[in-house]
Amino acid sequence: MNNTSDSLQLPAMSAEKFGDWMLQHTQPKFRARQVLDWRNKGVTNPDEMRNLPKALRELLRTGLQCEPLQPVHRQCSTDGTRKYLFELSREKVAGKQVEAVFIPEAERGTVCVSSQVGCVLDCPFCFTGTQGFEANLTAGEIVAQILAIKHDLRSEPLPRGLHSDVTHVVYMGMGEPLANEQGVHESLGLLMAEDGLHLSRRRITVSTSGLVPQIRRLGAEQPVNLAISLHAAIDALRDELVPINRKYSLAELRTCLDAYPLPAQRHITLEYVMLAGVNDRPEDLEALAGFVNRARERVNLIQFNPYPGSPYTGTDRENMNKFAQGLISKGVRATVRRSRGQDIMAACGQLKAAGSTP
Ligand code: SAH
Ligand code: SF4
Repeated sequence: MNNTSDSLQLPAMSAEKFGDWMLQHTQPKFRARQVLDWRNKGVTNPDEMRNLPKALRELLRTGLQCEPLQPVHRQCSTDGTRKYLFELSREKVAGKQVEAVFIPEAERGTVCVSSQVGCVLDCPFCFTGTQGFEANLTAGEIVAQILAIKHDLRSEPLPRGLHSDVTHVVYMGMGEPLANEQGVHESLGLLMAEDGLHLSRRRITVSTSGLVPQIRRLGAEQPVNLAISLHAAIDALRDELVPINRKYSLAELRTCLDAYPLPAQRHITLEYVMLAGVNDRPEDLEALAGFVNRARERVNLIQFNPYPGSPYTGTDRENMNKFAQGLISKGVRATVRRSRGQDIMAACGQLKAAGSTP
């Protein structure tokens, strides 16, 4: 694997950029189309692009970084969820690992991508947060996670009744997407491009712990669906659970969310991981109901996923349902999220590379 610059990662090249590159190498236009058709289907290894002449395959292999991620390991959950471990190959970060998850349902297939190795932030209930920050992923490395999963699903589809292609993408894997604006914005462009993966912005969700200026920029430049890791609606408690709150308080977050552009029929999701005795008390419910903008937001209650050494206990199912009912009775739209892939540590907050994968 060669280490060409980030901008020459095949998964991240726009049709225009790739067309120019092919032109510089005196390749006909229709060949560029053929390569991108393969790529968009998930095939990025030139040797698998069967309709290309040998010389062109060689040119692609030597001139571009076609596969910025190497699949290292795959685990399959009993519910169909697949967790993938990838190794980066770019100079300086070679050997570092990230994870992505595919979550199949009857009508949709969702990929959960990582945006950083580790995370710049350190929410105390999050496995990734305990790892510290190691690197931002490039757009190519973010898109490559999706392409590699598409490839895997083509070679080994899921059993009948479960979707075997990628219809939705959520930025909820390792890392804080909005602390890697360049990689994330660029990757969003490629996911939505007509000659890229051509996913509608309604099918893409960025989850953030609440970086206010970055949320504003996302809304102005790439207004995809937004999920906010709220986890507390009382400042003192949120300062502890989501430490970025010390920088951007709930009041600032409120103003910013109210200004986020939403298409018709869409809402912002407020994620709320339920920690027994910590944020599931009656006063927490009161505060949360007081924070939510009922017309534009809904609350998604998440079961806490424990990991070795985690300092919290999750609220039990019965109390989660009661909490949800309490919100609903106050006119707040609230749902309890079903956890997927828990048996393979693929659930929210359980992702952490290198050494932790059983
Ligand atoms: N950094 C971003 C996106 C990645 S985390 C963010 O924080 O939004 C994806 C979601 O998983 C977030 O809502 C996060 O708060 C939640 N999460 C983290 N650790 C968890 C855990 N142990 N159990 C359940 N959810 C967790
Ligand atoms: Fe980072 Fe999100 Fe985990 Fe917080 S919850 S440490 S922002 S990945």
